[in-house]
This record gives sequence, structure tokens and C-alpha cells, in this order.
Amino acid sequence: MSLLAEDTEAADLGLRWKPGFAALGPAFFTELRPTPLPDSYWVGRSEAVAGELGLPTDWHESKATLAALTGSMPVAGARPIATVYSGHQFGVWAGQLGDGRAIMLGETEGGLEVQLKGAGRTPYSRGGDGRAVLRSSIREFLCSEAMHGLGIPTTRALCVTGSDAPVYREEIESAAVVTRVAPSFVRFGHFEHFAANQRDEELRALADYVIDRYYPACRTTDRFGGNAYAAFLEAVSERTAALLAQWQAVGFCHGVMNTDNMSILGLTIDYGPFQFLDGFDPRHICNHSDTQGRYAFNQQPNVAYWNLFCLAQALLPLIGDQEVAVAALESYKTVFPNEFEGRMRAKLGLTQAAEGDRPLIEGVLKLLAAGKVDYTIFWRRLSGYMADGNVEPVRDVFLDRAGFDAWLLSFSQRHAGTDRALAAELMRRSNPKFVLRNHLGQQAIEASQQKDHSGVATLLALLQTPFEEHPGADAYAGFPPDWASTIEISCSS
Ligand code: AMP
Ligand code: MG
Repeated sequence: MSLLAEDTEAADLGLRWKPGFAALGPAFFTELRPTPLPDSYWVGRSEAVAGELGLPTDWHESKATLAALTGSMPVAGARPIATVYSGHQFGVWAGQLGDGRAIMLGETEGGLEVQLKGAGRTPYSRGGDGRAVLRSSIREFLCSEAMHGLGIPTTRALCVTGSDAPVYREEIESAAVVTRVAPSFVRFGHFEHFAANQRDEELRALADYVIDRYYPACRTTDRFGGNAYAAFLEAVSERTAALLAQWQAVGFCHGVMNTDNMSILGLTIDYGPFQFLDGFDPRHICNHSDTQGRYAFNQQPNVAYWNLFCLAQALLPLIGDQEVAVAALESYKTVFPNEFEGRMRAKLGLTQAAEGDRPLIEGVLKLLAAGKVDYTIFWRRLSGYMADGNVEPVRDVFLDRAGFDAWLLSFSQRHAGTDRALAAELMRRSNPKFVLRNHLGQQAIEASQQKDHSGVATLLALLQTPFEEHPGADAYAGFPPDWASTIEISCSS
């Protein structure tokens, strides 16, 4: 094909591309093209992400852009790739996995990688169809933007595009593509892949690339006798600890914490069977396929540590000393509880740490668990109580009123002398009114399946600013309906 023909058939998104990850060379990926889908249409768009990419304001008006982001037309200047990684799934070494349905267009000059998830088969599809269904794509799109709105590190999503092409799961569904955006989509599993195959040269090249791009301070570390790879492991471990603290504080449960779903940048990545808790249940399992409860809500901080141990194992040839590698993981055990307590303190309207904070936090979590009290509603109502002094709305959510009153007494004593208006403001900014509950996503999905995508846009607007009141939107902040508990979500749809 001549250069001219290629150019005229490509969509110009108005983005400039640089080699980025692809500069590592062909050992790390396969170059390929997305597989087209017919008759694509817009399902949802995040103008916030468009802004971060620096897209022109009319970016979504072009039919070529719609086609390109559905994988049906090449993107001018982009050289799409699928990357290879391996990983531990449900605690077991799974061998080679890789981008089985996500195709990376490249990295923009602004330093953001752009991926089309669901854009067709790759050499890493392992018998899968390379597709994602509309339902899971809407969930990933909305949750990426919701997490960002909550201030939690995450990959982002520019848009979801759909096509009526059939996708075969338990029943026939329709296909969709999520355009995901992140500074890097590198996972723990990328390192595990080269380590498991004893490809030390590639392992080192990958680590050097990630350190130089995203963790440059490791080069001049004075930790671990100046061992940059150990410092890198420690930095990843601390970012992961901080992420887990945020998940736990907001009541977010990631359904598939396999090492291939762990971001090297400490981002929330790969939204599948995730869930924001409704009633607080520490042992909640949000993934229907997770029959053993490996990824139950209260297991997640330990699972993250286990995953970091796998990463440490993979980096061992570079770190060079097992004891140093283990030492680099040590701070997880202090960073996680400190970060968690800090987040919980903010939810309680407390700006300073004090002795007795831990029992205060544990006390309220125990009460919430005993009554399976709605997690998000409780915290928002407690914030309201701090603002207006009316305790009834928050007291109402407990059956064990005496238990709550006893806790409230210690809470009030802890707040003696507090400027209530300031504390209320901190609580309002720390306790979201809106989270992406399963049933809210489900309602938007069912409308979208009938070609009404307005529910996706409505939810997106609320979830992007979840701490605001949004008068008139209380229906999205209420208790879940009974049918919410019957929603079943499994891996890889
Ligand atoms: P997940 O648990 O969704 O993160 O996926 C685990 C692995 O399976 C990754 O390598 C995915 O790329 C791959 N995968 C999941 N669904 C599909 C699919 N429909 N087609 C091809 N590969 C898939
Ligand atoms: Mg994955």
C-alpha cells in the first residue's frame, strides 16, 4: 500500500505519537491491527479525558474518529501493538497471558498510552474472541472515571463505542470497545513474564525503562546501598499500599486481583467484576467465579502484598539479593495501615492523629459489619450530622441503636473543641454521595442495550464529581433495591 493511500484511509485524531513502550523492541509485543467492527456508535464519552489527551473540542464529531476508536480504521501516525505478559491467577502460576483483547495505539507526545480494549484477537488471545461486551465495557468506562472522581489512582477511559456485532458469552450480546488511557499499562505480570522465562536481558531493559520513565528518583536512591531495582520495588510497594488503603476506605472491591491485573504505577486497572459495597460486609466476594473468596474485600490488602512478593521474586535477578528484595517490601506493612488510618480519619472529620483513633475506626467498622449497614450512605449521613447536628438520619441506619449511641459518644468526645463546620467540610470531601453501585450501572447498561445511552452520560456526570450534592439526583444516592443483590458478575466478559 502506498503511503498516500494509507494516509487517506487513516483517521487523524489530532494526536502526535511517540514510540513509548514500543521502543523496547519486538520481544515485548506484537505489532498488529485491530479487527474492525461494523456500524459503530457512541455509547459514552469523557470530555475530561479528551481534555487531558489534548484532543480538539470537536473530536467526537468525526465519523473517522468513531470508526478508529472502534478499531475499524487505522489511526494516523499510530503503530498498534499488543504486549506480552504472564501472571499468577487466583494464586496459581498461569504462564503466558498478554493483551488478549486490548490493543495499544501508542503513546501520545503528552505521555499517555491509549489502548482499545475489545478491539479483536491478538497472538495472546488464548482461544478468546478478543472482544468485550457492551455491559462490561460500560462498567469499565464508568468506574474508571468514577475512581478518578474519587481521587483514587486509576487508568482512565476516553469513551465506549458499540457495535451490534454479536459476541457469544452465556448468551448473545453485542460488542463494544473501551478506549483506555494511562501513563503506562505495564503490570506486575510483564516482569514476571521475562523472569519466568529467564530472559534477564529483557527483564533489565523493562525495569530500566519503567524506572527511567516513571520512577527516576530510584536512580539516585541512598536506600539499599543505592540499589535502584530494590528502591523501585519499594516505591511500587508503597504506591500499591496507598492504593489498597484508598480502596478499603471507600469500600471498593476489585474482583480479580491477579498479578496480571496489578499496575506497576499503583493504578486501579482492569475493571471486571468489581463492586462498591452496599451493606458493609468485610467478607464480601464480588466475583461470582471466586468460589474460594480469595479476593474477598477484607483479603485484598494481604493479596496485594502477596502479589508484590511475586513482583519481588521477578525482580530478584536484578536486585541480586533475596534479603534486600524482602526488605524492600517491608514498608508495605506500615504504609498500608498508616494510609488507611489517614483516610478513615478524614472520613471521621479528624485532621490530626491521636491515640484512640484506631479503636474509634475499628469500632465503627464493627458496628457497620454487624448491621450490614450501607457503607456509603452511613458515611455521607455522618457528614450531614457533623454539618447540621441532626443525628436521626444517621442513627436510623442502625438496628443496634444502643451500639451506635455508644460509638457516637466516643466520636463526639474525640471531636471536643473541633470546629464543626471545618470538620463537616472535610467529611463532605472524604465521603462521596455517589458511587457506582452495581444496580446503577445495571440500569444504565439495560437502557444502553436498548440504544438509550443517556443513562451512561447521567451517571458519568454524577460520578465525576461524587462529593457534590447534585440536587435532584438523590435517586442515585439511595439504598440499593432488593434485586441489586441478585446481580452476578464474573471474570472476562
Ligand atoms: P482478565 O481477567 O479480564 O484481566 O483477563 C485475563 C487474561 O485473559 C488477559 O490476558 C486477557 O487479555 C485475556 N482475555 C480476557 N477476555 C478475553 C477475550 N474475550 N478474548 C481474548 N482474551 C481475553
Ligand atoms: Mg486483565
